[in-house]
This record gives sequence, C-alpha cells and structure tokens, in this order.
Amino acid sequence: MTYLKLGKKQANTGSSSTIKSKKLDESCSPSVPSESICASEASGEASLESNAMHANMTILVHNDSIDDLLECPICSNSMFPPIQQCPSGHTLCSACKSRVNNKCPICRKDIGNIRCLALEKLAVSLCLPCAYHQLGCEQMFPYYSKVVHESQCSYRPYSCPHPGQNCLFTGGISALLSHLRDCHEVDLQNGCTFNHRYVKQDPCSVDNVTWTLTLFSCFGQYFCLHFEAFPLGSQPVYMAFLRFLGDEDEARKFGYCLEVGGNGRKMTYQGVPRSIRTHHMTVRDSYDGLIVQRSLALYFSGGEQKELKLRVTGRIWKEI
Ligand SMILES: [Zn+2]
Ligand SMILES: [Zn+2]
Ligand SMILES: [Zn+2]
Ligand SMILES: [Zn+2]
Repeated sequence: MTYLKLGKKQANTGSSSTIKSKKLDESCSPSVPSESICASEASGEASLESNAMHANMTILVHNDSIDDLLECPICSNSMFPPIQQCPSGHTLCSACKSRVNNKCPICRKDIGNIRCLALEKLAVSLCLPCAYHQLGCEQMFPYYSKVVHESQCSYRPYSCPHPGQNCLFTGGISALLSHLRDCHEVDLQNGCTFNHRYVKQDPCSVDNVTWTLTLFSCFGQYFCLHFEAFPLGSQPVYMAFLRFLGDEDEARKFGYCLEVGGNGRKMTYQGVPRSIRTHHMTVRDSYDGLIVQRSLALYFSGGEQKELKLRVTGRIWKEI
C-alpha cells in the first residue's frame, strides 16, 4: 500500500465535498483515489478543509499503482537511487542491473547507464506507513527512510525464541505465546520465582547440545528461561539464562538471579534478561548467564557420574 503525499496547496485544489479524511488503518479503495485520501494526523471524520488549516498536515492518497511503479521487476524489492532504466523505459534497481548482465529482462536491450530521475523524484515525494502498521505502528516515513525505520521498528514481529529447531515462525508477543504452547509444548508458569530440576543422562558426553525452555509470566510480562548443555572446549558446560519477550529497552527494566546448588555447594548468578531480539546462541556465546562446569555440576548432583540432576532456583524482579 502506498500513500502519495500532497502539499497543502494541492490538497486545496481537490473537491472538499467528495474528499473525506480517514484513519490510517482504515482501508482505502485503490480504484478511486479521489475518495480515499487519508490524513496522517486526522482521526475520525473531519472535512479536508478544516484539516488543511493545519500547516504541517500531510495528505496521503492511497495508490497501489505507485507501489508497482517502485517495485523492481526482478527482485520485487522497493527501488532506491540510482534507479536504472533501459532505452525503452523499463526500470529496475541498480543491484539487479548486473544480475541480468546489463540486458533488460523485458525488451532484451542493453540497459546502459540511464537513470530514471522522474521515478527517483516521485519516490522522494512519497510518505508511507510503516510496513508494520497493522501490528500497531502508526508512524509515517518518507520513502527513503522507511526501510531504515522498519529494521528497528518496535512493532516488527519477533522470531520464535525456541532453541530447538530452526523454527521460522514470527509474530507479536501473544502470537508467540500461543505458538510456543501449541507447537513446542512449552510450559507457562505464573509468578516471579521458580524452582527447576534438570536431569541429564550421560553427563560426560559432549556429543549433543541439549536445552529446555520454560516460560514465566510476571509483572504483566513474559520471560523464558533457557537451560542449555553444550561443549566448551573438551568439556560439557551447563548454562542457564533468562530472555525477555519484548524489546531490549524494556528488558533492562528487570533483573533476575539464578541459584544452583546441592551437596553442600552453591553458586549464584545475577543478571539482566536479554531481549528475544537477541538470538539465544548470541546470549550463550557471550556467556551472559549462569555457567556451571561439568565437574562442579557433578558435585551439585551428588557426585553421580551416570545422571546429572541440577536444581536451579531463581527470581525475577522489576528495577525501580
Ligand atoms: Zn531489483
Ligand atoms: Zn527494456
Ligand atoms: Zn514502524
Ligand atoms: Zn517456533
């Protein structure tokens, strides 16, 4: 969906009897642009005339054909300067020019080095909603800033935090929770304290990486506790850490501690949950969690060589 930004002067030339402002999230009819003008700062029904009084107002015309114009026919991505065109006027993005060996994929003519300045200028005039507007982002961006924003938009979907398979699911927090429960059978527990027992057969083996994931709900937020066994050098180590289902700046508002012990010994770790935007492997590789060496883990476990039993307790709190 593309919205064409019109200046105040242009907006005033339109017919105020047929043009109504609409909320951004209302769908506009692509076939009748004159009736589907959207105002970024307007809410509810208000006449164009009164809205146009607002000096900084942006009028946006929904027009899907502009999307098509700015979509590269080769890679289907939005085109950025320098936008290339062949002698017949077919456009494509500069990255794709070499991909098609300088031959226009439509008319087969040599592309040469002709820029399509008209299209580049049109792109500059566009004001677009964030790609995640249906997920709640209400921000609008000039065409060339949109991609940068979207890579950091706090409404962008999260990847599945489950460490098991290379799961490709993405979604908002509530969708992630249902997904973790339904597809990965992850337990959800309420409360800010926890007590877990991890049992691992054959603790001396370094063959495979194992893990468990548990979800916690407290302070109106969700956290996932990872417990992973992986080889570090020639020895298996055990690591526990907490991730936050949300962005990093929210995650920093919480703290947690983990305690593991047994057989007269005890080890504690205090940390800050990491956002699930950070991959669990990245957290693991930065050792940002409770790490227990195998020999110590075996002491905690009571010296048993055949089976490792670790009791991990923990607490999550909100920093003031
Ligand atoms: Zn392309
Ligand atoms: Zn061509
Ligand atoms: Zn956004
Ligand atoms: Zn998943």
